[in-house]
Amino acid sequence: MFPVTQFPRALCRRVDPDTMFPNLKDAEGIAEARETCVFCPHRAECLEAALSLTPARDAGVRAGTTKEERRKIRRNRAAAARKEQQAIAA
Ligand code: SF4
Repeated sequence: MFPVTQFPRALCRRVDPDTMFPNLKDAEGIAEARETCVFCPHRAECLEAALSLTPARDAGVRAGTTKEERRKIRRNRAAAARKEQQAIAA
């Protein structure tokens, strides 16, 4: 599981760790977790760290995104990288 304490000034260190791992069907819980990330100074690096995790290790709300949203970001980035490679090869 992604360590909540990875970043020294992470705002998620100030909340109950369970806050960052809401049930995916709990809209209020997800919103609360997202709010925790809004003003976090580590948001950008947190997102990249979360995106570097394997899907099996990825969990919770990170950088204001859910696991499903991160899955879409990974997929979009992979598609963009493929297009770029195709453009270079053409
Ligand atoms: S962006 Fe959110 S999950 Fe990431 S370190 Fe900050 S508060 Fe924690």
